[in-house]
Amino acid sequence: MEKISIIVPCYNEEKALPLFYEELIKNIKDFPKNIDFEILFINDGSKDDTLKIIKNLSEKDTRIKYISFSRNFGKEAAIFAGLENVTGDYVTLMDADLQDPPSLLKDMYKILIEEDYDAVGTRRTTRKGEPVIRSIFAKLFYKLINKMTSFENVDGARDYVLMKRVVVDSIISLKEYNRYYKGLFSFVGFKIKWIEYKNIPRVAGQTKWSFWKLTKYALEGITAFSTVPLVFSSVIGLIFCLVSFLLIIAIIFKTLILGDPTSGWPSLVCIIFMVSGIQLFSLGIIGQYLSKTYLEVKRRPIYIIREKSNNFENK
Ligand code: UDP
Ligand code: MG
Repeated sequence: MEKISIIVPCYNEEKALPLFYEELIKNIKDFPKNIDFEILFINDGSKDDTLKIIKNLSEKDTRIKYISFSRNFGKEAAIFAGLENVTGDYVTLMDADLQDPPSLLKDMYKILIEEDYDAVGTRRTTRKGEPVIRSIFAKLFYKLINKMTSFENVDGARDYVLMKRVVVDSIISLKEYNRYYKGLFSFVGFKIKWIEYKNIPRVAGQTKWSFWKLTKYALEGITAFSTVPLVFSSVIGLIFCLVSFLLIIAIIFKTLILGDPTSGWPSLVCIIFMVSGIQLFSLGIIGQYLSKTYLEVKRRPIYIIREKSNNFENK
């Protein structure tokens, strides 16, 4: 019997969860009878009644498992915990807010069994319902990260992907602490088919991502998968050295020919400002990588479990 595992990271989703469950069940009901389902909810340190709702659901439905973290570790940690703890032949990730429509799952599964693909991903073709400024920066981010990495990062790609076991195993073999799932997924490669759909607004509750959190996440993505910013600061440094060398020669000649009238301190101040600005900027870039390395070498666990349901197969 084949099994499909569905991982659902949840952080303060008490309003959305009952709606999500209802919609999910409606959609997995008419899958062929020889397919088993496993639904794993990861409670990422919610402060509301999310865990209680998950527990209630799991009493009604034995396919439901849950893992509850000791605090909020972030969606990336929840995804990792999910991937590590499911046993399905096919695995997918869905947001609890129904922005990843369960109705697509059937088509995704069909593609995997009928065509020669290892994973089916979903991407939003619109960002309707999202703040305009957020969409603009998201577009910019994808342009930037695609220039800086050697693999493709698909614009609008969701974490909602149905993967075969090989893909899951290769993603969990990447044990890094600073996790950027979309990048990890692109990094491992494999044959992926993308299906498109129009953005769906969140069904209930509120987004957990502020603009600041997204910016930090974007920087995480770039530093985790590219060292181009470091090259960039070296190149700027080199250009400045060359320019200053040429200027020194020009000034020596000028002084020899015209004497040494002392003027030009305002321009000097501007140059000092600019150069020290660039130095700090480069130092900041190096600092970013250093801080990531620092966190990486500590080898802290990516998540800590407070409790889990007792229907895991001796894991
Ligand atoms: N989420 C999580 N931990 C967090 C933040 C979010 O597990 O720290 C979950 C959240 O419950 C939801 C999914 O990640 O199921 C996506 O979050 P959200 O809908 O807030 O993000 P958006 O769709 O606005 O990008
Ligand atoms: Mg959402």
